Amino acid sequence: MPQCAPAHAIQSQVFLNISSSPSDSSSAIAPGSTRAARRVVVIGGGPAGLMAAEALSAAGSGVSVQLYDAMPSVGRKFLLAGKGGLNLTHSEEFEPFMSRYGERKPALQPLVAAFGPPQLRDWAAALGVETFIGSSGRVFPKDMKAAPLLRAWLHRLRASGVQFFMRHRWLGWADDGALRFAAPSGEVLVQADAVVLALGGGSWARLGSDGAWVPLLAERGVPVAPLVPSNCGFDVGAASQAEAHPQGETRREFFRELVGKGASATGWSEYFASKFAGQPFKSVAISFTDSQGRSFNRKGEFVATATGVEGSLIYAASSLLRDEIAAQGSATFLLDLLPGKSPEQVLVEVRHPRGSRSLSSHLKSRLSLDGIKAAMLHEKLGKEDINDPVKLAHAIKGLPVTVIAARPIDEAISTAGGVPFEGMNADLQLYLPKALPGGNGTPVFCAGEMLDWEAPTGGYLLTACMASGRVAGQGVLKHFGL
Ligand SMILES: Cc1cc2nc3c(=O)[nH]c(=O)nc-3n(C[C@H](O)[C@H](O)[C@H](O)COP(=O)(O)OP(=O)(O)OC[C@H]3O[C@@H](n4cnc5c(N)ncnc54)[C@H](O)[C@@H]3O)c2cc1C
Repeated sequence: MPQCAPAHAIQSQVFLNISSSPSDSSSAIAPGSTRAARRVVVIGGGPAGLMAAEALSAAGSGVSVQLYDAMPSVGRKFLLAGKGGLNLTHSEEFEPFMSRYGERKPALQPLVAAFGPPQLRDWAAALGVETFIGSSGRVFPKDMKAAPLLRAWLHRLRASGVQFFMRHRWLGWADDGALRFAAPSGEVLVQADAVVLALGGGSWARLGSDGAWVPLLAERGVPVAPLVPSNCGFDVGAASQAEAHPQGETRREFFRELVGKGASATGWSEYFASKFAGQPFKSVAISFTDSQGRSFNRKGEFVATATGVEGSLIYAASSLLRDEIAAQGSATFLLDLLPGKSPEQVLVEVRHPRGSRSLSSHLKSRLSLDGIKAAMLHEKLGKEDINDPVKLAHAIKGLPVTVIAARPIDEAISTAGGVPFEGMNADLQLYLPKALPGGNGTPVFCAGEMLDWEAPTGGYLLTACMASGRVAGQGVLKHFGL
């Protein structure tokens, strides 16, 4: 993090020429205009902040848009998303699309109705990036890359007058209400007529989204839900051990105690972890019902890690698993290793006489169960159970896998928590319960992943980030009657 200049040095620091006082705002007066442009500062140059800047720049000379970011360049997480093909949005109908936002559907619905999948695809096309619908219904740029889209977008934003200030880390507000930034030259104070915060969530801190903004808002009295991992992996625990935990003790505590007693930190045996970490479970299904009766049931694939599980199918169930762990100390899902076969079919094949063949070759030849799937059965079943055809068939169709902790937030694809919609108006303007120091009443808007919502992967994240950035930018214009 850049060092702040000592307080005595701040006065002699470069103050960006964007004061809120009309009398010294000559740089913000558009040529030929008689009225000072409104100075709007966007902080955070991810897709949400860039979209806010774009919406603001539509007002032409009416606003002067300055975008600040802590990193040397904008859109770093967006570029990382491009490594996975840049799943921009999803082609499904509006209703099922909106259902992916769960409890936050009502809050996000008007935003996504105004700028949803069709609009996002048109927007990309206007930047010269055609999109296509993949076999899963997900929408990607034809070249599956983020860089050309970001490049064209930044070019257009610059052409429309948006100014970029990189390596400026927002530190909160000064006593007179100015925005404080740590810049390479020292601390910089910036006055603005309005602010859009688009600071991202709390994962992948090395790309800029470190969640360090949470206390900055909290100390102004803005309620912020704690950031927690979403679309994340989990550490597993051993189901048999979990069942044996003493009454009144959470499973997590129980596992921790076990770890202290020299047991493995996770439920994988050393053999399984060393041989199968990184390998995928393909064409499987998982089902899970939490203690409140909420269910998840889906086919797909995921990956074993050294300590647990991750990958698309796990991410899709991650909010339920995470919340259940928080409430109960652990969550146990059922893994169906052969979703294409009924329990009866599996039992028939397991019972088929195997003669002198080993169980492994029997399972491989009758049910194509080998590799990590067969290893998982050995991992989870005792010798007795694996040799009992009924128990084995039962396990193949529903092997209990207990997860005891979400992986650290920094590893997650996205985060849940953040600024709740209840703390903002429909234009995403914060109700600041405590006036800013200096009492200048500068309106503050928020957008993107820093808002309290979550969604699975599938293009829902970028869509809502961009839709909310657009609403925040337009909200500023509305606020000024522009
Ligand atoms: C590996 C990976 C793959 C992904 N793939 C997809 C995908 O295919 N489809 C999809 O929909 N989503 C995907 N996502 C999620 C998506 O990238 C994010 O949801 C999205 O980038 C969030 O946008 P944002 O603008 O809200 O925040 P961010 O993109 O996180 O941007 C926030 C910006 O704010 C800046 N910032 C933070 N704090 C400060 C501060 N104090 N001062 C100044 N600047 C600050 C940061 O430097 C950063 O540039 C993926 C995420 C990951 C990690």
